[in-house]
Amino acid sequence: MSETAVRAGRVEEITSTANPRIKSIKALALKKNRESEKLFLAEGMKLVTDALATGWRVRTLIHSKKIFDDEKLKSRVEKLSTTVRARGGDVLITNDKVLTSITRRDNAQMVVAVIEQNFASAGEIKCVDNDTWVALDRVRDPGNLGTIVRTADALGAKGVLLIGETTAPFALDAVRATMGSLFHTPIARMSEDEFLKFAANWKSDGGDIIGTHLQGAVDHRQINYAETPQIVLMGNEQKGLTEELSNACTQLAYIAMDGAADSLNLAVATGIMLFEVRRHALKSNDRSH
Ligand code: SAM
Repeated sequence: MSETAVRAGRVEEITSTANPRIKSIKALALKKNRESEKLFLAEGMKLVTDALATGWRVRTLIHSKKIFDDEKLKSRVEKLSTTVRARGGDVLITNDKVLTSITRRDNAQMVVAVIEQNFASAGEIKCVDNDTWVALDRVRDPGNLGTIVRTADALGAKGVLLIGETTAPFALDAVRATMGSLFHTPIARMSEDEFLKFAANWKSDGGDIIGTHLQGAVDHRQINYAETPQIVLMGNEQKGLTEELSNACTQLAYIAMDGAADSLNLAVATGIMLFEVRRHALKSNDRSH
C-alpha cells in the first residue's frame, strides 16, 4: 500500500501512567505479551531513526514534552513524528514519569517506539559467494544475543539464525545491546530438526558449517574462510553445542586460551570467530599516514 493510501496516525497527549494505552505499552515488558502482540519496544533517537530508515513498522512513537524546549531536538523528533504518522502510526506526547514507567529505568530516553516484530524466513539464507551467517544454539542471555547481532552487523555477516528454544531478540535488554543493528541484520529462527535439514542442503550446495567447541579439533586461526559460504555455529552458554549439531559441522574449531578460565563468554567467542572469519573482507582503516 502506498503511503498516501494509509490513514494518517493521530497525536495524543497522555500524562498518566494509568492510561490504558500506556498500560498496554508497559505490558510489552513481558515476553508473553510481546509474543501475542508481535510488538516490541525500542528506546532512543538512534534506534527509532534506524527502525524508520530501514522500513520497520512503528505503531506508536512516544516522546517527552521536554523535546519542545530544545530547537534541535524538537526538529529531529518532529521529523520522526511526521514519518510515523504518514505511515499510519500514532504519536503520544508525554512526561518523564510515563517514559520511566515504560522503559523501567531512571533517566529514560526522551523517545520510545512500539514496533512490529519482524523475523527473516529461512529462504532468505542463501548459500552463495563467501557469505557468513551466525547460528546460535539455544542462546539464553538477551545481552549476549544483542551483542552478537551488533557484532555480526559490524563484521559484515549477513544475519543471525536462532536454533531451538532461545531468548528473543525483542526483549528490551537485547534490543538495547544491538545498538540499532537489530534493524540492519536479518534474524531467522528454526528448531534443531529444521536446522539439521537446512544444514544438509547447505553442505550439499558447497557451504561450510564451522562449529565452535571446547573439544574442537582445529585451531580457529588455521581454517581458510575465504573460499566458501559459511555458517559459524555457536553453542549454548551452559551446555555448548548438542551432539547432533556438532555432528552436522564440517569442522569444529577451538579458540586457543592460555589462562585459568574454562571457556570464553559466548558473545566474546562469537566476536573472536567473526573477526577471523571476516578478516580477509575487512577494510584496513590505517590512520597512521
Ligand atoms: N560449558 C560449556 C561447554 O562445555 O561448551 C561452555 C559454553 S561457552 C560459555 C559458550 C559457547 O562459546 C561454546 O559452546 C562455544 O560455542 C563458544 N566458546 C567459548 N569458548 C570457546 C573456545 N575456547 N573455543 C571454542 N568455542 C568456544
